This record gives sequence, C-alpha cells and structure tokens, in this order.
Amino acid sequence: HGKNRLVMILNREDKKRVAQNSEILSLITDALNEGKFRVDLQPVCKAGAGIMHYEALVRMLGRQAEIISPATFIPIAEKYGLMAAVDRWVIIQVCEILKKQKELAIFVNLSGVSLGDDTLLEWIETTIKQGDVDPRRLGFEITESTAVKDLTKVERWISRLKLWGCRFALDDFGVGFSSFSYLQRLPIDFLKIDGSFIRNLDSNSTQRALVQAMNAVAHALGKETIAEFVENEAIWDILRRLQVDYGQGYFLGRPMPPQHYTGGPAFGLDGEK
Ligand code: C2E
Ligand code: MG
Ligand code: MG
Ligand code: MG
Repeated sequence: HGKNRLVMILNREDKKRVAQNSEILSLITDALNEGKFRVDLQPVCKAGAGIMHYEALVRMLGRQAEIISPATFIPIAEKYGLMAAVDRWVIIQVCEILKKQKELAIFVNLSGVSLGDDTLLEWIETTIKQGDVDPRRLGFEITESTAVKDLTKVERWISRLKLWGCRFALDDFGVGFSSFSYLQRLPIDFLKIDGSFIRNLDSNSTQRALVQAMNAVAHALGKETIAEFVENEAIWDILRRLQVDYGQGYFLGRPMPPQHYTGGPAFGLDGEK
C-alpha cells in the first residue's frame, strides 16, 4: 500500500533528521527576531605580553535558554540563506561591545556570504565614520574557501576596510585549498594555523615540522601567526620555541561572555603567558 511505500522511502532516521533540522531552523528565525543570540569572547595572547585581542564566537539560546553551538546551527543557517543575517547580528553586537569597552579589540568571523557584500561594507564604514567604533579595534576572520571564490572582489573589499585600520586574519589555515599565490595576494595581517595541527603538537613531531613550515611561509609573506587550540602548557612552550607569534585556546582563556573580559592588551595574564 501507499503507506508501506512511504515508510520505505522515508525511514525513521530521515524523519528524525528533518524534525531536528526544522526545529533548529525555527530556533534560528526566532533568535533573529528576538535577539536570542549571544556573543562570547575568547582571548588571543602573545607570549610574555598577555591578551592582544579577542575573537567573537556566536552562540544561540534554545527554548530552555540552553546554549546551542555554532557547529550545530551554522550549517542550517547557511543552507536556508540566513547566515548573512546571523553575521550582521554578530557585527552589530560586537560594535556595541566596542562602543562600551573602549579598551577591547575584537575579531569577528565572516561567513562566505558576508565577505564581499557591499551593503555590509557600507554599513561598517558608516559605523566607523560615526566615530564610536575605532576601526583599529575591529578585525575580521575569513576562511580560505570563501576568500578564493572571487579573489579580485574579496581583495578590494578587504583593502577598503584596511584603509580604515581594520585588521584581517585567515582562519583555518592549512586545511583549505589556497595556493601560495593566493596567500600572497590576500591583504591579510594574520594566518591562524588550524587547531588540528596544534592539539597534538606535544606528541607529534611531523606536526611540529608542519607548524614550523607554515610559520616560515607566513613570516616570508610578512604576516603574523596565531595558533588555535592551545590546550596545555607543553603546547604553548613548543609554540613559543617555534616562534609562532600568538596563541589561542583553552589553556590561555575559554570563550566567555564579554563582561568576563574587561581588560585590553596584557590584562589578566601573568608575565610569562
Ligand atoms: P573557528 O572560528 O575556527 O573558532 C574556533 C573554535 O574552536 C570555536 O568553536 C572555539 O570555541 C573552539 N576552541 C577554542 N579554543 C579551543 C581549544 O583549546 N580546544 C578546542 N578543542 N576547541 C577550541 P565554536 O565557538 O563552537 O565555533 C565553531 C566555528 O563556528 C568557528 O570556528 C567559526 O567557523 C564558526 N563561528 C563561530 N562564531 C561565528 C560567528 O559569529 N560568525 C560566523 N560566520 N561563524 C562563526
Ligand atoms: Mg575564527
Ligand atoms: Mg579558527
Ligand atoms: Mg578552526
């Protein structure tokens, strides 16, 4: 019968997945309407100099105010064309934080739809021109896959904001596709070495060699390096010996609500970290 056929076509896992995804989709639209997102800040540190800036990481609040991670909702927001709206929400929020906490510098993650968006560029420029946000304290993290999509356009977009003093980091470096020639063309300030190369650094000499090589490439291109997923002191020691410029990870500071981090550079960490 028809009913039996349907059971065969749409199995229990299919139904469960669809139900979960549509629940997340409706949470996203509710969150966008009602402002039910939250931004955490995670510090990026320089050896011996403490916190240099922060990365903004978005979280979504569920029906019981439970925290839903971006890994869960970003793929669905992207699929349904809502990621530009999420990015706009985060940028507005970060600008609000920067207006209140003048000592902070914050980098925002940009998804592929936002990088190269002229309306967004104009909004950011207008906000900067109004004078409440110092552009030198506003940075952006972009990924290789989205940057190489339309390199000429992206180059121009980044350059416009760099004229104001905004800074740029290339996220997830080492796991994407970008060639040395792309790297040379992208006017970015920092390369963030992907956490997958860092987390086993204390036990894996091949990864140490790779990190050393990536660091050398970055420095040859005049860019500074940031290592993600610094989870313990042994890893931080190795990174400093390899002369990686900055570190970020649970050992140096977890993502926390902005009230937790009330300091600018060199705040909150003792000398050697
Ligand atoms: P990402 O930009 O590479 O961010 C790093 C992720 O690693 C964050 O996960 C962070 O919480 C986590 N992390 C930090 N330190 C450690 C550590 O020591 N060990 C481990 N295992 N993990 C660490 P999160 O917050 O779940 O974000 C996941 C991804 O979602 C981000 O990766 C970024 O691609 C995206 N994302 C987060 N917030 C935003 C946002 O506001 N806008 C956009 N477009 N994307 C965002
Ligand atoms: Mg990032
Ligand atoms: Mg990252
Ligand atoms: Mg990463």
